Amino acid sequence: MSFLIPGSGVGFAILEVVFGFVLVGTFLYSTWDRIQLLLQGKPEVRWDRLPERINQFIRYVLGQSKLLQEAYGGPMHFFIFWGFMILGFTIANFLFEGLGIRFEKIPFLSFLAPFQHGTALPFTEGFLWYHAVMDTFILLVLITMGMAFYRRLVLRPERMELTGQALFILTLITLMMVTDVMLSGAKIVEGSYLPGAYLSVLTADLWRVVGVRSESAARGAYVASWWLHWFVFWGFLNYLPLSKHMHIMTAPFNVFFHSLEPKGALQPIPNLSEMMEKFDEKTKFGANTIPDFTWKQLLDGPTCQECGRCQDMCPAYNTDKPLSPKKLIMELKHVWLEEGHQPAGAERKSLISDEIFSLDFIWACTTCRGCEWACPVLNEHIQKIVDLRRFLTLMEGNLPAEGQVALQNIEKNSNPWGVGFDQRAKWTEGLEVPVFGELSEEDRKRIEYCYFVGCAGSFDERNKKIAQNLVKIMKAGGVNFAILGAEEACCGDTARRLGNEYLYQILALQNMNAMFGYGIKKVVTACPHGFNTLKNEYPQFVAEARKGNPDFAWNVEVVHASELIYRLLGEGKLKPANKLELELAFHDSCYLGRHNDLYQIPRQTLQTVGIKVKEMPRNAEKSFCCGAGGGRMWLEEHGEKINVNRSKEAIATGAAGVAVNCPFCLTMFEDGIKDQGQEEKMKVYDLTELVAQAL
Ligand code: SF4
Ligand code: SF4
Repeated sequence: MSFLIPGSGVGFAILEVVFGFVLVGTFLYSTWDRIQLLLQGKPEVRWDRLPERINQFIRYVLGQSKLLQEAYGGPMHFFIFWGFMILGFTIANFLFEGLGIRFEKIPFLSFLAPFQHGTALPFTEGFLWYHAVMDTFILLVLITMGMAFYRRLVLRPERMELTGQALFILTLITLMMVTDVMLSGAKIVEGSYLPGAYLSVLTADLWRVVGVRSESAARGAYVASWWLHWFVFWGFLNYLPLSKHMHIMTAPFNVFFHSLEPKGALQPIPNLSEMMEKFDEKTKFGANTIPDFTWKQLLDGPTCQECGRCQDMCPAYNTDKPLSPKKLIMELKHVWLEEGHQPAGAERKSLISDEIFSLDFIWACTTCRGCEWACPVLNEHIQKIVDLRRFLTLMEGNLPAEGQVALQNIEKNSNPWGVGFDQRAKWTEGLEVPVFGELSEEDRKRIEYCYFVGCAGSFDERNKKIAQNLVKIMKAGGVNFAILGAEEACCGDTARRLGNEYLYQILALQNMNAMFGYGIKKVVTACPHGFNTLKNEYPQFVAEARKGNPDFAWNVEVVHASELIYRLLGEGKLKPANKLELELAFHDSCYLGRHNDLYQIPRQTLQTVGIKVKEMPRNAEKSFCCGAGGGRMWLEEHGEKINVNRSKEAIATGAAGVAVNCPFCLTMFEDGIKDQGQEEKMKVYDLTELVAQAL
């Protein structure tokens, strides 16, 4: 039976290599099978801009920066990850040790013999650094395993399900650590000198307590621990690709391949106009089956660790809508695995159904990006929801009736309110606002900013006042600006997020061509939705615009009104004469905040005009959506209203009002506060009207 003793010679080495080949083979087979399944998805280039991808990898995989956002789970995952990385070294040593290689017997490597202890790798066993580091990391992983068990079994956060698989994996990891120190403890009893192995000294004592004292008994304990460690390690590795913990393998790749596009940008449908022209029974827009998604979108599924952080952030889920971003990813994964390999052209299961993604599920999303911000493995939820919406809107015309009306209004009059497009500049009456089309060539050259007013500022009574205030501010700050007037089209944000990519593209090109025609280089807008789409999404259509005009170029700097005001205040061009002395809650709009990382500028601007900002519990990156994004402004909402939920939070601060910087948020808060009968006590202000009051 000596061939069963690790490191004992050729017999054992053959056994280890044969077993190793079989187990590595099954692991590679399962992994390859999963890769083949991923490749059912559409192609997508996600390996460009290598330095940025490496940077992303360092930040989120090696630095675990997303996970560290969370007090309990963050350090826990950090030490599990780094524990595994470091302990990979002990695994390599452990496998090498079994082969029984002694460097003293290899002539050209004999110089390493003085640094080899037994059959271990040189500079490992018997070296203080090795044992101290390894035992420390084993201890850290064991502590974090204890924390993980405690969280799952005792704390039981609602967002995490207690599954047998999760407990099994935690048990395997714990066993791997325990068998490792059992093994080195047995070596100590046998007489080995392992300096710094303070944990193994304890297990050596435990061996002695259970009667393992003689050299031969210690040898037996060592062999038993070695084999146990071996089976636990290979069992763990082979179980991974088949289990929900596949994310341990896929997460680093998912992070590496994460989108490098601006956060607020949705992806266009390639060759959309050509496809529209040649529309036939094979044409398909959007997604309703597994192969309609890209391989990267499918990779999000096995990468999901089912932690539920996305769900915790979701305004729809938190107001009892059927939508859950966690369910979105998990259902995609379930159908992907359930369908498995299918021949090309086989009929695929529709994902849009009451059992998988119901219509209410798909239309509940406000595209607030809370889910993507929270996801530790950088899964991308919004594009998937919009792809499902594109299928419904463009292929089936199946969108809520109110959404249909909003889109028809945009088609006819270029605004969702349906007011005549020729009324777009009516809000300027009496204000002497220059319009590009009415200026001479000479005067146009002197204009620095195009003020893109947007539909709300142009047509909604309350928001017209915001536009008028911004005009007052820009004039006071000496800004040379003009508007496009009736030549301005809807920015298209609503159309795009309700799934009508075709209409969006028409609107985007209309605005881009108008701006190019007037040589516009800078745009300011008070609407975060317009700001986001002009800044992050319009550049996607330069090639399309060049089809109509080969000279077309788009070098436009887009700023939000709060950025311009902040700059004017900083440069002393705006001088607030009346400090406002108000205490206000501040609401971060999703499209300025999570989509564009503008958190401090609006706050500092408010402080400059004398306002004390009282933070709501959910603020900045964790801000709770007002409920209007993603085209939801135009859709009916059933059950608890998102804007009421958020308004209650603002009211609870006890502040005199709430400051916002988005026309949709303004409307949603005014409605929400009215719903609570608090409109006399709590006013809603847009940042621009506060600054205008202070001048
Ligand atoms: S974008 Fe917002 S509303 Fe949509 S699924 Fe994510 S968290 Fe929920
Ligand atoms: S998608 Fe991300 S945040 Fe949501 S459950 Fe999966 S890993 Fe967690």
